[in-house]
Amino acid sequence: MSVSLPERAGSIVLTGIPAVAGVVAAPVVRPVERVRIETASENIAKSDRAPEAERLRVAAATVAQRLRHRATRADGAAAEVLSANAAMAVDRGWLGVAEGSIATGTPAPAATTAAIEQFAAMFTRLGGRMAERVTDLYDIRDRVVAELTGAPEPGITLPDRPSILLATDLAPADTAGLDPNLIVGLATSLGGPTSHTAIIARQLGIPCLVAVTGLDEVPVGAQVLLDATTGRVTVHPDPDADATAAADHRAAAARAAAWSGPGATADGHRVDILANVQDGASARAARRTPAAGIGLFRTELCFLDRESEPSIEEQAATYREVLDAYPDAKVVIRTLDAGSDKPLRFAPHPDEANPALGVRGIRTALLDDGLLDRQLDAIALAAADRDTAPWVMAPMISTAAEAESFAAKARARALTPGIMIEVPAAALLAETLLAHVDFASIGTNDLAQYTMAADRMSPHLATLTDPWQPAVLHLVARTAAAGHALAKPIGVCGEAAADPLLACILTGLGITSLSAAAPALSPVGATLATIPLETCRRAAQSVLATSNPAEARAAARTALGMDSSQPAEIE
Ligand code: PEP
Ligand code: MG
Repeated sequence: MSVSLPERAGSIVLTGIPAVAGVVAAPVVRPVERVRIETASENIAKSDRAPEAERLRVAAATVAQRLRHRATRADGAAAEVLSANAAMAVDRGWLGVAEGSIATGTPAPAATTAAIEQFAAMFTRLGGRMAERVTDLYDIRDRVVAELTGAPEPGITLPDRPSILLATDLAPADTAGLDPNLIVGLATSLGGPTSHTAIIARQLGIPCLVAVTGLDEVPVGAQVLLDATTGRVTVHPDPDADATAAADHRAAAARAAAWSGPGATADGHRVDILANVQDGASARAARRTPAAGIGLFRTELCFLDRESEPSIEEQAATYREVLDAYPDAKVVIRTLDAGSDKPLRFAPHPDEANPALGVRGIRTALLDDGLLDRQLDAIALAAADRDTAPWVMAPMISTAAEAESFAAKARARALTPGIMIEVPAAALLAETLLAHVDFASIGTNDLAQYTMAADRMSPHLATLTDPWQPAVLHLVARTAAAGHALAKPIGVCGEAAADPLLACILTGLGITSLSAAAPALSPVGATLATIPLETCRRAAQSVLATSNPAEARAAARTALGMDSSQPAEIE
């Protein structure tokens, strides 16, 4: 955990994990406290129970309807979250439990609270992405109970002037409704860099810090400087530093808006800047940005709600939509990364105490490789009339034998095989594994999780899963060197690639492509375009010599000539 240090007389610096880069200064606002509604639990008369259950169903449907309506006015990740929450509001699981307690005499608000509590406990036990949805569940509870009791719908009241929103955590439905002109920065004391809040903030372009220690003490109205590039919130900042930092950020934002690719350093060393997508719609949206292709198509996200395996033709139609968005460019399709926090109901998942270390990604093929074979058939079918073979890569590769077997299956279908490097074992033996395939892409989200033995979704361990951890960057360096030795491209497609400062370091380490959510790409490309390759290389070496993420960031800023006068915080 970071230790907060008073930085200058009168100012306090709090540290957190940068989720969406940017620097802004503004006064603090906080979400309106959610009214805790007393849910009286006296028994209701038998004759009132059926109408009470109906009242609950109507309230849940009303909440779902409002969320769906907001989804139609949003797009991308915000729309997806709002639609998913709308579906959760009328989910038969919790509603069934609540109706069961109403049938025994519990009033609807108390029945709602108890049912949601039961599901929240179950999601927390499951961990990972399921645990993240607990915030959504509580948000639905508050909305339904407010509807039942006639209280105002909970949420964030937008301020009348540009402000920085500080919160313990935010419901994704609240984040999705933020106006970036009024909420110019966001910081939470919980949440990780891959939380829904961070994903939506990235899409809205709101600079965002998560896992900030000491945030709860900052009073409403206090002026703060939120630096989501270095990971600091300065309370009562020096007014000059305040203005300079914000002006620097505005200049950087203008540079990013003007950047149109292709990705290259200031001296013309090419680095492909690519988009991460999960379906045809996001691929078409990426096409409207400077993304030169797709660096990661997360195919499992297309089928999370499926009970049974989609047919080869159905899969092919889904993949073709993404290929069609980039007919002549590089498209890297990842085979199903089922398991752990992304279980697919039609993939083999044994009951496991520790699913992140269990049967996920390529390991599902150990139990049944028919699923992988059929997916590769579908990709080949989707690509049948393309001039260039799509690249396919397997997630969670940890041995040379897995790489070899995957490559044989891909080549048999005229696909270009690659592997993801997400497990330290794969990075350590990168040269051996790469001998079997044509490329690799480093998934820094999982590589950090497995290197640091820290759940990537844990809000308490966000410092450990920070991709700036030098141990993680040493494994990136090792993999890039292996790629260089064998003349094979090595990309990065984890959240690390969305950080403009880290993008320069990755380039200096020898990474040949960077793939991230499309809205993050312009700041990355624009920053890289200002730095010569040799400077990136020197900066990368100085980062590798550090011992913690804060030092690593500071070393990078100094070596890249982006130094702010601020000292590094203590880890
Ligand atoms: C990663 O692990 O960095 C990655 C890109 O894969 P995912 O986030 O889908 O696990
Ligand atoms: Mg991964």
